Amino acid sequence: MRCPQCGEEMQPGFLQAGNLLAFNRNRHKISLNPRDEGDVVIARKAFGSADFPGFICRGCGLVVFNCRDVLTRL
Ligand SMILES: [Zn+2]
Repeated sequence: MRCPQCGEEMQPGFLQAGNLLAFNRNRHKISLNPRDEGDVVIARKAFGSADFPGFICRGCGLVVFNCRDVLTRL
């Protein structure tokens, strides 16, 4: 997959996180709940983890993943 930002070949991998993983319109503490209409909580598990297959661009740092494509626990 080509990076949509810089055009370099992206590296496949997994986006993983602990208690909360979110993509929010305005930056705020990850421990806080979403507060903006555009905030999207991608995963919320009190005692679990999130695990998404995706791609990272080693050139510019862009990460791409599908938040509906969560993997089962290892
Ligand atoms: Zn890139």
